[in-house]
Amino acid sequence: MKLANIVKVLQGMSSEQATQIRREYVYKNNRLYRKVDDQLRFVVPTAMRWRVVRTYHDDMGHFAAEKTLDRLRKDFWFPKMRKYVKSYISACMECVYNKTVTGKAEGQLYIDTVKPIPFMRLHLDHVGPLPKTSRGNQYILGITDPFTKFTVLKAVRSVNTQPVIRALNELTSYFGLPAIVVTDRGTAFTSHNFAEYCKLNGIQHIQTAVRTPRANGSIERINQTVCKCLRASCVSDSDWDTAIRDIQWTLNSNTNATTKYSPNDLIFDFRLRDVVHKRLVQAIHDEANDSQESIDIRRERATKSIEAEQAKWKQRFDRQRKKPFQYQEGDLVVITNVAPSTGFSRKLEPRYRGPYVISKVLRFDRYVVEDIEGLQRRQRRFNSVFHAEHLKPWCTAAPFLDNDTDGSDNEEDPGNVPGQESDLSGVAELSQTSNRDNDG
Ligand SMILES: [Zn+2]
Repeated sequence: MKLANIVKVLQGMSSEQATQIRREYVYKNNRLYRKVDDQLRFVVPTAMRWRVVRTYHDDMGHFAAEKTLDRLRKDFWFPKMRKYVKSYISACMECVYNKTVTGKAEGQLYIDTVKPIPFMRLHLDHVGPLPKTSRGNQYILGITDPFTKFTVLKAVRSVNTQPVIRALNELTSYFGLPAIVVTDRGTAFTSHNFAEYCKLNGIQHIQTAVRTPRANGSIERINQTVCKCLRASCVSDSDWDTAIRDIQWTLNSNTNATTKYSPNDLIFDFRLRDVVHKRLVQAIHDEANDSQESIDIRRERATKSIEAEQAKWKQRFDRQRKKPFQYQEGDLVVITNVAPSTGFSRKLEPRYRGPYVISKVLRFDRYVVEDIEGLQRRQRRFNSVFHAEHLKPWCTAAPFLDNDTDGSDNEEDPGNVPGQESDLSGVAELSQTSNRDNDG
């Protein structure tokens, strides 16, 4: 506390201010207390604050700000205590790596407007690994048009790029090139070869952020259906790939829940002859659309249905989420660790890893996250795309370095409004350095 401040307080104190102070503070046994709801709370001197908060946070199980504050408030008071505690906790290493964010997850759903043109956009994904068939297949590659929901399924041996390119070549030989392909970050899609293929064919490749399957939504749902159909079909484990054609047919000839039409009805203007003929599942396609609607009308109605469904979905999604934190280029972050599929308990492992640096801000709350220069962990430089919901800011500056935490040393502070923490901070400071008779 600067002498000038003490003098300022002494000289400037009107009788109302003195009364106000007497109403709120008690001075006894050489200590200053603040009266809160008829209880006395020790006013913690600046030099002691860090140690007190440390004791109440670090030594008592690293509770979050509100819980730590609850405990502190039983005995202590100092100006801007909440801000101080929050700032302290945001600088706590232990918490940065181990405390998950509670409450709603971050995120907002961004919906792409649907262009009512089939095969403009394709979503690709792999299902598996499944039991190896006698033909060596272990995965299913699914390719879906998000407008018509038309789906192509290919049994493939691996999740490599070559089978994907083969399947795309075949599909595009019938339906032409898509403008956009959307994939996750599986090895088939992050490879140099796949990038080259897209470039060569003038296809824009959108990769979803790590662990946000909703961005590749329609294909994820189709994958679930495929698994269900496989389980329902009577083929053996070594022969599931023989059932693929029938499942694909069923998917494309059944009425889709969203569009209210079958994919075939949104693509073809004529009735296809049945492939499965009730062999697989009692196909709903028997009641397929026999109406006289032109294909244009069908597509228009399907588009409206998709839009309505998306709006509903967005509303539901956003209700369960909070606005994502906005990071800037250069920000340091930690990334949530995923539970491995091995199944052993991870209770004692850190929940986050890092720090990494945000090297690029992408649209839709996604960020390119990289190793920090000079802090590379593996031989290969880490570089991936994450959604804000899987990130957390790394430690911020410790509170005792942050001048903003406490206004008490702010000479410019004109505050004279009684009852506000910031305005009484000068008084609290005064108490520790001078033994003024302050009790009322
Ligand atoms: Zn902590």
